[in-house]
Amino acid sequence: MAGVAQSLMTEDFRKLYGSAEGVRIFRAPGRVNLIGEHTDYNLGFVLPVALDLATYIAAAPSTDGKLRIYSEFRKEMREWNVADLAALTPARHWTDYPIGVAQELLCAGLAIAPANLLVRSSVPEGSGLSSSAALEVSTALAFLAGRLLDPLDLARLCQRAERNFVGMPCGIMDQYISVFGREHSAVEIDCRSLGRRFVELPAGITFVAVNTMVKHALAGSAYKDRVAECAAAVAGIKEKFPGVESLRDVSPEQLESVAPSLPAVVERRARHVVTEDARVGRYVEASTRGDLALMGELLVESHRSLQHDYEVSCAELDFLVDTALAIDGVLGSRMTGGGFGGCTVTMLRPDAVARFGQEMARAYQRQFQAAPQIYACRPSAGAGEVKDSEEF
Ligand code: ADP
Ligand code: MG
Repeated sequence: MAGVAQSLMTEDFRKLYGSAEGVRIFRAPGRVNLIGEHTDYNLGFVLPVALDLATYIAAAPSTDGKLRIYSEFRKEMREWNVADLAALTPARHWTDYPIGVAQELLCAGLAIAPANLLVRSSVPEGSGLSSSAALEVSTALAFLAGRLLDPLDLARLCQRAERNFVGMPCGIMDQYISVFGREHSAVEIDCRSLGRRFVELPAGITFVAVNTMVKHALAGSAYKDRVAECAAAVAGIKEKFPGVESLRDVSPEQLESVAPSLPAVVERRARHVVTEDARVGRYVEASTRGDLALMGELLVESHRSLQHDYEVSCAELDFLVDTALAIDGVLGSRMTGGGFGGCTVTMLRPDAVARFGQEMARAYQRQFQAAPQIYACRPSAGAGEVKDSEEF
């Protein structure tokens, strides 16, 4: 029944704000990254897929000079005078994401009109499926209210919001894929040139994300530590190879030749990034040839590299990967997203999905006394306005 969810959301908006006059609905998807982890802020390569899990914002003009935002996840409403937005400072609160976006739009010379917003999302928060970028991009579209912005500028503006206002030194991947996702395709992104290549995935495989349901406290600080360690690696490598600007520029041979002069930890971090960049290219190539076995192996290699060299995995993620790899029909599995909890992504035969779900749930329950959420990863379109009678 087309339009049901849309009319429901409009009705809920009316109940919340008293009127739904002029309401429009904007959508921005979450994502699962197939391979290329912690490479985006090193200006390397990533291969994410936009999901059909998404954040929806219903927005309509308000008449009293206020901006109001209600999040259903948080069951919380906040309001500001639009005239005050430019001067706000971070509050260490979920509203830092939309306010950061508002400030970046203002910096770009785009006015924010008084408005009421209702935020509804099917992207689990803090699970490595990028609910933050889904929130940023959907908010930006709601604030733009139909004004056009170059899609690449939109992605970059949302990245700046997260870096400058939220204080997370993130790469471009999450915002980029939320804007540029495409049905049936993964997107290979060159995080330096910001060019993209749509990669149609071979027949005979599907992807499933499994949520550990944990996010360890270390996640935020360790991310910043890794960014700093990569910068230290670049500084060390530059002494011998002055042309190197980021780890993206470093070949495995170059890294080998400077390895003895780098602190051991820094060398391991760099090794992950340099080998991971190469794995993205190999994965795309294997995908083009339909070499499913090699694709699976590369996912596992990526996980081991994140586990041992980059050290951003955790017991729950390792358990999910190891359990998945023992299930018939599974070709490969790895942690996805920043790490320290969140999700794994598993590549498997479509006819193995039901059994996989049951076996994973049973094993995880036994080990960690928690029920892991399991999501089918259907490659979906990037962000935009939800048109009349579109279902979601
Ligand atoms: P991820 O992007 O992997 O989901 P992050 O830690 O980067 O994890 O972002 C999660 C944060 O984004 C949440 O803690 C919350 O502040 C914010 N967020 C995301 N979606 C929503 C939502 N629907 N409502 C309120 N806050 C949200
Ligand atoms: Mg995020």
